Amino acid sequence: MSKRELIDILNKEKMLSHEQWCELLTDFSEEDRLFAGELALKITEANFGKNVFFRGIIEFSNICKNDCYYCGIRRSNKEAQRYRLSEEEILLCCREGYRLGYRTFVLQSGEDNYWTDDRITTLIGCIKAEYPDCAITLSIGERSRESYEAMFNAGADRYLLRHETADKDHYARLHPEAMSFENRMLCLNDLKEIGFQTGCGIMVGTPYQTIETLAKDMEFMGEFKPEMVGIGPFIPHKDTPFANCETGDRELTLFLLSLTRIMLPEVLLPSTTALGTVASDGRIQGVLAGCNVVMPNLSPQNVRKSYMLYDNKAGSELSAQESLRLLQKQMESIGKTIVIGRGDHIRYKGKCEEND
Ligand code: SAH
Repeated sequence: MSKRELIDILNKEKMLSHEQWCELLTDFSEEDRLFAGELALKITEANFGKNVFFRGIIEFSNICKNDCYYCGIRRSNKEAQRYRLSEEEILLCCREGYRLGYRTFVLQSGEDNYWTDDRITTLIGCIKAEYPDCAITLSIGERSRESYEAMFNAGADRYLLRHETADKDHYARLHPEAMSFENRMLCLNDLKEIGFQTGCGIMVGTPYQTIETLAKDMEFMGEFKPEMVGIGPFIPHKDTPFANCETGDRELTLFLLSLTRIMLPEVLLPSTTALGTVASDGRIQGVLAGCNVVMPNLSPQNVRKSYMLYDNKAGSELSAQESLRLLQKQMESIGKTIVIGRGDHIRYKGKCEEND
């Protein structure tokens, strides 16, 4: 079957068999990628018009108890300058973000034991009390179901936890023994059941990734039906075991983003910072390939260089305002409109209508 026929089936059925995924992802041409890209853009605009949702990301701690082989803030990286923002500092970021027009705050960190359920729910409560019209997205890793429930009850709306790979053996080659594929999946299922708008996703081009593992990722996402999907290229970090590995392929990343949009027409799909790091127009390309979210950095400038998940992360020199303006300009240059508003997933709109 031709790649175009497979893309048409995906568009119609919203799924492909494992064999079909493998066939589609093997030796695709630039024309195939652009075909998928145009279809994905059409689907995005049919669902969202020209709108692109902006989220402010606050990287509030780079202290991490985990030791993921790919990640620059892994526990064993003794070169990383560790920091943790205080609650007051985080609230100041929100204030600045609100002033700049953000209505979603994404709180991301390493798995930092300081942030107990008590502390994080207090923080969520404070942000919600001050900004009831804003959504809170958490991206703070694996926790217990009780912990996720407590954070949801405190008012958190969304949760990002990339599955990283849907292949158990591949997962074990990216993470130390203390982490397990089963627990990652358990966490994702808990998050969804509790009622979070839930995001999963992968890095493209991680060591040991194959067409087969990517096919499994796409199949998993088709079944899990996440509200959000994060896909960016893997970029090596010099102080990790994967320092000498290759950077993920930009075209393959864009192709996978387009296929994700075709499979999940309503998904919230960020054009990632990692994509913006491998090419200066990467985030524009992502949006032209079907992305509809960008997440400029809202972290204080003095800590940005310390939240280095990978080398040369884009935007680490800029202030919050500069990050926003740059992305705003990029989006306007391709005729997109920046949306002020929470930008919930369509399935969750009813619940949040008064805020949208
Ligand atoms: N501790 C949180 C946040 C992790 S950072 C968690 O576990 O979810 C968010 C994402 O950055 C990770 O899920 C991973 O997919 C991505 N990331 C980490 N290291 C990276 C690298 N070297 N290149 C590209 N992306 C990376």
